[in-house]
Amino acid sequence: MRPDKRRERQLFQQEIQQTTGINFDEYDKIPVETSGNDVPPPIETFEAEVIGDDLYRNVQLCGYSKPTPVQKWSIPIATADRDLMACAQTGSGKTAGFLFPIIMTMLRKGGTEPEGGIRGRRTYPECLVLAPTRELASQIQDEAQKFLYCTGIAAVVVYGGADARDQLRQIERGCDLLVATPGRLVDLIERGRLSMENVKFMVLDEAVRFAIIYPSGRLSTTDILTSFLSLSSPLRIGCLIWDSNLRFVVSSNRRACLTRMIGRL
Ligand code: ADP
Ligand code: MG
Repeated sequence: MRPDKRRERQLFQQEIQQTTGINFDEYDKIPVETSGNDVPPPIETFEAEVIGDDLYRNVQLCGYSKPTPVQKWSIPIATADRDLMACAQTGSGKTAGFLFPIIMTMLRKGGTEPEGGIRGRRTYPECLVLAPTRELASQIQDEAQKFLYCTGIAAVVVYGGADARDQLRQIERGCDLLVATPGRLVDLIERGRLSMENVKFMVLDEAVRFAIIYPSGRLSTTDILTSFLSLSSPLRIGCLIWDSNLRFVVSSNRRACLTRMIGRL
């Protein structure tokens, strides 16, 4: 894809103003705890050799000088095709933390067709990011657009309370990475316009909030995952679960549920 100066200004202008005010060096002092077997070592810098030329160019346009702690660890872990559950404070760059390794892997492996071929008017995204609210979904989409600039990877956001026809038109134009709220996602799958068969990466952002937003159990995190798993192919799917409050979950009785979810994936 060719660079487009006007779009570049639209995407990145705000970013330059924003990041200059924040002292990301402070984050370096925050200790990081990891668990699991053979955790890959963290990266220390954003370099083209490590994150790839396309993403490196966009990282520079964003004005990011170095990875935040959660990104240092998430990039090598998730690009090694490992599942990951991460917990880091608000504002610590978790969105890039999950999007970067996914984008790197998508660029490295190239696009794939669903194994069973394309059926009907369905679109088959490779990455699904589930967000509990439309506001969060739109924020993730805005970040994704910057990181995907000139990569040829298309991101689309869908959420309830907005015209589904517009969203369907965008999906039809191409949708490799889908950011969705659960209700609208299920709706579009049921209409036969979206399929999860080719999903290789799944992210649950702010995982705890799914259960909080749907306290009556209309759609709990486990329901979402259960329906997602039964709709998707039996192939193994990389799962990234993100939250700023997982400590709370881990110390409550939901721990069993989260562990089971990850175990099943
Ligand atoms: P979180 O999801 O952890 O609350 P966000 O992903 O929303 O945090 O990131 C907060 C802000 O930090 C955003 O404006 C984002 O563009 C910016 N940011 C992310 N990574 C970096 C980085 N490595 N360097 C500078 N700014 C960053
Ligand atoms: Mg976030």
